[in-house]
Amino acid sequence: MQSNSFQCLICNRTVTRDQKELHKQKDPDGYKYAILWPEYYPLTDYCYDVDIPIYCSSFFSKALGVKKVYILYEGKNISGSMKDYVVLKAINLAEKKKNSFFNLASSGNHALSLANQTQRYGYYSMIFLPESSSKLKYLAAYDNTLVIAVKEATYEDVYSLSNRINIKGVFNANISNELLITGFQPVARKICSLSPLPSHILAGVGNGTYLSGLTWSFQHTFTKLPKIIPVGMKGAFPLEEAVHKNKNIYKYKEYGVDTKYIKEASGSIALESYNMPQLIYALKLSNGFPLGGLQHIDLHNAYGLLMNEKHLMNNCIIPEPTGIMGLAAAIKYKDHFSSDDVLLISFTGSAFKSLDSIKRIAPEFITEVPIHFWQKCEYVNNKYFQNIINVNKNISQEKLMTIIQNWMNNCL
Ligand SMILES: [Zn+2]
Repeated sequence: MQSNSFQCLICNRTVTRDQKELHKQKDPDGYKYAILWPEYYPLTDYCYDVDIPIYCSSFFSKALGVKKVYILYEGKNISGSMKDYVVLKAINLAEKKKNSFFNLASSGNHALSLANQTQRYGYYSMIFLPESSSKLKYLAAYDNTLVIAVKEATYEDVYSLSNRINIKGVFNANISNELLITGFQPVARKICSLSPLPSHILAGVGNGTYLSGLTWSFQHTFTKLPKIIPVGMKGAFPLEEAVHKNKNIYKYKEYGVDTKYIKEASGSIALESYNMPQLIYALKLSNGFPLGGLQHIDLHNAYGLLMNEKHLMNNCIIPEPTGIMGLAAAIKYKDHFSSDDVLLISFTGSAFKSLDSIKRIAPEFITEVPIHFWQKCEYVNNKYFQNIINVNKNISQEKLMTIIQNWMNNCL
């Protein structure tokens, strides 16, 4: 069951399910940005058991000077990141429409999750990404997936190409954010069962749906919400600027620093973020605040601290650079927290596809990684390329549709 009504975060009107597509198209920002917030419907309609561990680290709480630190390890999800929640929700929605093809623009974990999960369910996915993406080789390993690698393209370019695909029976996993945001209930429920409950939840943001999704679930469970703390890289975190300017959509023209200081957190650096209206609303509801300004040196410090947390290391709780941003911010902004605070820091994705990045940020950390973690990495790296099509970003609609139709015909 879907929510029957939504609050528009731009004009504050209530929008019914029947009006929502029209309302999104009427607003100049509505189709691109997540401007709708689903109103309540019974939480029991979408929940499943997740095996995502939450560790309690007295080593971190001592180092950070707070009462308690929980580490939530999203790397244990099947595809290695928290994107599985939103992808499983998309599959859940699409199944009701009998769709077996999915379409997505993403250069990172979202794409990997879609390829992985659609393969598990016997579906197909087409993924648009910049040709330069480091995740290309991992995506190419899925034979249910068409990888459309766009030459000299930014995320903006691939996003607009992806949205040109309007084929009956293809579920566009990019643009139904107001439906996908409710997909985080399984992990929200795990957090709700903690005692004591967290006072703050920190996570590095990609598009921010994760933290908005948790907030949406908490909103119907808690009387006092944990403060939501989205974390970002220096000069690549437009949300921070939006909060200061009291706007709910804001984008940069260019990065505020030389990207050589921030690029390893590739899942997080962005000039604009489509989820921004929802995340701003989540901050308002929870009285949270953004922490930005991170650079590689801060991620290095976080890996340095994690290296000495033997219990987590022995359990292979090893996040990718984007996934360790929450811990990096807790270290850098220690004075924002008090000795009564209970922090929940989410490690949003596993390191197993990002070891080269970690080597560059914190070479000494790599030598501490337990041997059984490496075995998983080998398994991923030994696969081969297939189903990659390289296209120009100015490709004609006709050509693009021919490529896709041919591939779809071959799949069926
Ligand atoms: Zn509106």
